[in-house]
Order: sequence, then C-alpha cells, then structure tokens
Amino acid sequence: MSLVPGAALVTGGGSGIGRAIAVALGAAGAPVAVFDLLPDGGKDTVQAIEAKGGRAFFVSGDVSRWGDVDGAVAAAVGRLGPLAIMVNAAGILDGYARVDELTPAVFERVVAINLTGTFHGCKRALAEMAPRGAGRIVNIASVAGLIGDGGGPAYVASKHGVVGLTRVLAATHAAQGVTVNAICPGPIATSLRQNSTRILGAGAPVMRGIGGDEAAIKAVTPAGRRGTVEEIAAAACYLASEEAAYVTGHTLVIDGGWTAR
Ligand code: NAD
Repeated sequence: MSLVPGAALVTGGGSGIGRAIAVALGAAGAPVAVFDLLPDGGKDTVQAIEAKGGRAFFVSGDVSRWGDVDGAVAAAVGRLGPLAIMVNAAGILDGYARVDELTPAVFERVVAINLTGTFHGCKRALAEMAPRGAGRIVNIASVAGLIGDGGGPAYVASKHGVVGLTRVLAATHAAQGVTVNAICPGPIATSLRQNSTRILGAGAPVMRGIGGDEAAIKAVTPAGRRGTVEEIAAAACYLASEEAAYVTGHTLVIDGGWTAR
C-alpha cells in the first residue's frame, strides 16, 4: 500500500487518534503538519515522527477559527509542498450530558470544534486538492455519527453532521480526484475526556459515559475491549492510499462490533 504523494496535515495531531495517524503517515513517508490547540502534545508528536526518520512541524491553532485553519494549511504547503492528505481528528466530548444539563454554550463549543472545525478543514483542503485533481480527506467521526449513543446531544449531533458533510463533499468532489471518507471509531483508549474538560474550561460538564468504565465497554462491544489508536491509524493510512482511490463517501466503522448488534 502506498500513500498518495504529497504532504499531510492532521488536526488534533497532538494526542490520541490524531497523533497515532500523524506518526503512521510520517512513517509511511508523508511530511506532516501537526495542528493542535494544546501545544505540548503537538511538539511531542513532531518529535515522535522525527525519531522515526520522518519530517514534521507543529502549528498551533483552533479548528473552530477559519483563519487558524487557513493559515495552517498555507504554512503546511509553504514548508512541506502540495497538500495531498488532510485528516480532521480534532474533537471534544460533551460528557454524555443530557439535554436538560447541557448548556447552550457547551453545545455551541462542541459543534464549533467537531463539526464547524471539520468543515473548515475540508473546505481549506479542497481548495488545494481540487485544482490539482488529487487528494484524500479523512474525517474522524464516531459511532456517535451513526446511532443515538456514544455521547450526549452535542457530541452525537456534531458527529452525525460530520458524516453528512463527508457524504456531500465526497459526492461533489469525486470527479476531481479527491476522496472524502469518515472513520467511525467505537471506544478507543485516549485522553479525550481529560482534554475535553480542559478545553471546555469552567463550564465543562462532568465526563460521564462508557469511556471511563471498563465493564460498560465490555458490555457494549462484542470484542470485549477498547480499540487502540494504532487500529484507527492503520485505517486512516488505507483511506489515504493510492489503492483507496475508488473509496469515497464511506463511513468506516471500527468499533469491535458495537453497532453491528
Ligand atoms: P484526544 O483528546 O486524545 O485528541 C484530540 C485532540 O484534538 C487533542 O490533542 C486536542 O487538544 C485537539 N483539539 C481539541 N479541540 C481542538 C481545537 N478546537 N482545535 C485544534 N485542536 C483541538 O482525543 P481522541 O480520542 O484522540 O479524539 C480524536 C477524535 O476521535 C475526536 O474527533 C473524537 O471525537 C474522535 N473519537 C474518539 C473516540 C474515543 O473513544 N477516544 C471514539 C470515537 C471518536
């Protein structure tokens, strides 16, 4: 399997799934721009890529701000060359807060990052990819993008939005050689809950749900375990490969069988 040639940008590349994807793309030969709101993790990701002989740099920013995403893609193209791969992995959880506990401010922030941020990433990447007639966009949605579970109303609605966005962009840009796909992970071992609390700040809801509960994860996943970030990264590399040229608008579920039941 070979990646489409060119540079990659990974939002949310400073931790968890985004970091694993950035490291895997770097190891497979792509120079990688690592974009994240929290700088410490992003710099660690760059070091991890360089330690394996890859090329990377960190750019800090907030995916919910168009100017930050626009500037990051411009910087990536300037330093690494034409953008071939865009991975939109930045996201936060709403703590499975029920609608009666969910404040409008938290709802808006979750949607601004998970959905509007993914829109910004796709729009900016397509401006580079469509004129060149080549590109791969991989959006990290969730099982919460397919069923009414896996988060609270803000998270589930935002991830359903990511799936819809993926489909319409896939349909409108397939003829230009750009594929747009989503990965829908089940429970994966990351720091999502801690990072979401930090990013939401004073108004953050308590992080409930199955993510903090091993017994609940066993109960919902026929595989009986969490997935790993490497399992998600391997799928992202496939979707970013030459061999996946005819795969577009797809939602690749990686959930240990949770939604198959
Ligand atoms: P994580 O917290 O380890 O990584 C998310 C990264 O995104 C963090 O580094 C965070 O700083 C960054 N980020 C958050 N808001 C940002 C913003 N506004 N601008 C730029 N960067 C921002 O969590 P993760 O589990 O690796 O999450 C990655 C993606 O996977 C998210 O979209 C999440 O919704 C999705 N996901 C996670 C799971 C899971 O079980 N962990 C399951 C399904 C989907």
